[in-house]
Amino acid sequence: MESHNILGVRVDDVTLDDAVALIEGWAHEKVSPARLIVTANPEYVMAARRNSSFRKLVNSAALVTPDGVGLIYAGRLLRQPFRSRVTGVALVHALAKRSAESDLSLFLLGAAEGVAEAAAESLRKQYPGVKIAGCFAGNAAPEGDSETLEKVHEAQPHVVLVAYGMLKQDYWAARNLTKSGAALSIGVGGVFDYISGRAQLAPLWVRRIGLEWLYRLVREPRRWRRILVAVPYFGAAVLLEAARQRLR
Ligand code: UDP
Repeated sequence: MESHNILGVRVDDVTLDDAVALIEGWAHEKVSPARLIVTANPEYVMAARRNSSFRKLVNSAALVTPDGVGLIYAGRLLRQPFRSRVTGVALVHALAKRSAESDLSLFLLGAAEGVAEAAAESLRKQYPGVKIAGCFAGNAAPEGDSETLEKVHEAQPHVVLVAYGMLKQDYWAARNLTKSGAALSIGVGGVFDYISGRAQLAPLWVRRIGLEWLYRLVREPRRWRRILVAVPYFGAAVLLEAARQRLR
């Protein structure tokens, strides 16, 4: 697997098929520590640059997929083009499909009360036979760990899909995954909101022109601080690095 270095943060150059194949293989392998998968975007990269413990966590993950479109542009500008974008939504759908055809089992952790169950219901409809070992909203903070660990341990899934948003989901996995008995986890952000229909993905044309982040910003104004700070800084840092590379 080839990895790219985006402003000091490792992002792997995988396709959706590569990622699914890796995950299926890892799901049946017990290793300690258990494997963490990160679905990265520019906000992740900026957070990792600011926070060295988070950077270590991301750089030591088993797999870091290029989820945000900003990473795809950055890869091009930094002359390390990614073969494709691998979003959390696409990954969950692909894994649900594989789960319906194999013994691969998933645990849906996080999101608001009832949302993981609604997402599970939708996956069961779309992929009859999908193995959902359990669902739990839980509490992303360390106070919630023991209750959640009990649930995951009992359900014995291969994969825990953690939907607590950036940082919280990754720290949850770093604290708990090995103890949970699951082989790996994937931080999936707001994916259960989309799959359950609580939130809507941007229309295809908006996604095609790479303005999904702007669409989300308009629909979820609470995100403005994160997006309006991270996106321009990320863009500026990438342009600066690209200019440096060309001068070298
Ligand atoms: N969430 C949660 N507990 C928390 C914080 C967030 O369950 O303490 C959920 C929230 O309901 C949403 C997801 O985590 O489903 C975060 O979505 P967001 O789109 O903000 O993810 P990000 O963009 O950070 O990956």
